[in-house]
Amino acid sequence: MRRKPYVFITRELPDSTIEPLLDLARVSMWEESDRPVTRRRLEVEAAEADALLTMVSDPVDRELLEGAPNLRVVSNMGVGYDNVDLEAANELGILVCNTPDILTETTADLTFALLLASARRITEASELVRSGSWQEWGPMLMAGRDVYGKTLGIVGMGRIGTAVAKRASGFNMNILYHNRTRKKETESVTGASWVELEELLQESDFVVCLAPLTEETKRMFSYEQFRRMKETAFFINASRGGLVYEKGLVKALEERQIAGAGLDVFEEEPIDPGHPLLSFPNVTVLPHIGSASVDTRKEMARMASRNIAHVLKGYRPKAIVNRVE
Ligand code: NAP
Repeated sequence: MRRKPYVFITRELPDSTIEPLLDLARVSMWEESDRPVTRRRLEVEAAEADALLTMVSDPVDRELLEGAPNLRVVSNMGVGYDNVDLEAANELGILVCNTPDILTETTADLTFALLLASARRITEASELVRSGSWQEWGPMLMAGRDVYGKTLGIVGMGRIGTAVAKRASGFNMNILYHNRTRKKETESVTGASWVELEELLQESDFVVCLAPLTEETKRMFSYEQFRRMKETAFFINASRGGLVYEKGLVKALEERQIAGAGLDVFEEEPIDPGHPLLSFPNVTVLPHIGSASVDTRKEMARMASRNIAHVLKGYRPKAIVNRVE
């Protein structure tokens, strides 16, 4: 009798989200939702698994993949897949899937919230109230920067970038963007204009980073880029921490080359509580929660399960990100 395929899921997910797998496979999960699976356990499970349902926080590297002789698919719960060694997966014939589209609007909401919070000093002002330091109403108390009518520069105008631009048009913003290729359709829907990165940095009041982390984009924002921005401008990162050289950002903030930053993602996550970035009141920080609404996270888990179910049934899922036949 053929052995039932085995699926290992690297975090505790709600039962309802893994339903597509239950008739097809033996399924087990890492027992915790708030702590990543240990490397040792992941290696042991990968050695047996036909499929892994992974999180963006799990390093799925060559060593892990080479130690997984039965593995047919890595289904990553996220649109980004920079945590997976695609080259190794290609060589080993392992499919890699992601969960695009379903998180676009939720992530755009958070990105715009981070922009607004940075401009209007929302977390700083909230802290003033909570700490008991609010003495008086003041004409310039916690005065921030306007968003309405300002210039937004989006680096990485893809699905989420376009959804952010749509929100920005409701704020009557002038929208610039930079991609490797022009997106004519996005331009006609949002009124955005393509510009070189240099011009975007110089002209924008808000530079929003939404490009994926790749060899090409790694540390694309460093001191030199921040130095080119306006002193009154904000840098918002909702894509991946690896696009930013944080020492360069710290230097730019120390020298007041920019007005502040809003960061959902960091070079190392969780960020060390003693990290210099956390010492700036004009830096708004979040714990990588771009797509974290209850509905969207459940939908992402369902899609990641469906991707595996398709492979186990012998179909090709739509959301494949590597080149495996
Ligand atoms: P997408 O539709 O693939 O958009 C990415 C855009 O980046 C593309 O339009 C691409 O255009 C552009 N790009 C790629 N390389 C570039 C480069 N070197 N310079 C400038 N632009 C470049 O992806 P998406 O669904 O919008 O997601 C974007 C990223 O957001 C994901 O990769 C993920 O890392 C991140 N994300 C974060 C969270 C969170 O929780 N904070 C949640 C969801 C997603 P060209 O190919 O024309 O350059």
